[in-house]
Amino acid sequence: MNDPTDRILEVAQRAGRAAARLCQAVLAEAPASPDAMAKLGEGPVTVADYGSQALILKAVAEAFPDHAVIAEEGSAHLREHTGDASTEQIIRLVSRELGQKVDFDQICAWIDHKGAAEAEFTWAIDPIDGTKGFLRREQYAVAIGILRHGQPHAGVLACPSLDGGMQFSAARGRGTTAVPLAKGPPQRVHVTSFSDPAKVRVLGSVEAAHGDPKVVKAVIDDLKLTGGMVRIDSMVKYAVVARGEAEVYLRPRNKPDYRENIWDHAAGVIVTEEAGGRVSDLDGRPLDFSRGKRLEDNRGVLATNGVVHAAILESLRRVEALRA
Ligand code: AMP
Ligand code: MG
Repeated sequence: MNDPTDRILEVAQRAGRAAARLCQAVLAEAPASPDAMAKLGEGPVTVADYGSQALILKAVAEAFPDHAVIAEEGSAHLREHTGDASTEQIIRLVSRELGQKVDFDQICAWIDHKGAAEAEFTWAIDPIDGTKGFLRREQYAVAIGILRHGQPHAGVLACPSLDGGMQFSAARGRGTTAVPLAKGPPQRVHVTSFSDPAKVRVLGSVEAAHGDPKVVKAVIDDLKLTGGMVRIDSMVKYAVVARGEAEVYLRPRNKPDYRENIWDHAAGVIVTEEAGGRVSDLDGRPLDFSRGKRLEDNRGVLATNGVVHAAILESLRRVEALRA
């Protein structure tokens, strides 16, 4: 059988662009304050999360009906919490992207598309990663990861707030490219190759509850990393390491029982690795995407430019021994 990787990338890139446009349209129509933005239910999820997932899964269902899908959202929550205004908005924005009038039930069916139960390829999708960043009009990502036999194989990360909108694409053995979401030629991106502590830059989450900032600070102090620490929402962090604007993305758990969702990492891992970087958990183990919805066997996440990876893992052992 022909290798479908080219086609997978094409479909994911087109869907990522459409989803990113829909998300930006929701922001353009929303009131300026994040608190005033229409949120559906208790969580931060919005019409944009559902519209984005519907567009991506329509594309996957049509192009690859025999692939499996694990995506963050489900239509039950949308149906329960939607009102007239949000129903009208999602129908209008999804229809506009598709260039055809679609109805609410059809949108819900796309959101819930699961594909095959067992498949060589599984799409791990986060329609908006960093919803809190999205609501603050800061960084967020549309994340489309494709696993092959449970391993990251290809990925597209649309980052609408990065430099006016950038999209990163990667596939195993083919490198990572970045292209403006608006228009422009794809360019190869690469991680940095230095490990000088005076230059090493570190990334962490904006939301302190998504990690353990004390551990990040302890590693920075332990290794005397003085390149700077920047907090950014979402999987954009993987792209920032991939394009050589930071050397370390450290994500310690803030609760021992937290397991990362596969859709929060699948696309980012391949984008960083194919740019020459390295990704593991905090024990140096590869992330195991073959255990269902969560990274059941991993503890936290560390993505680096590769050359600093071992030093960060060693520092973590020291720092965690001191804190134990
Ligand atoms: P970030 O913007 O890097 O903090 O990551 C956003 C992601 O953090 C969201 O997609 C959530 O799935 C995830 N998340 C939510 N709660 C936690 C938690 N307690 N620990 C780690 N990640 C979390
Ligand atoms: Mg997420």
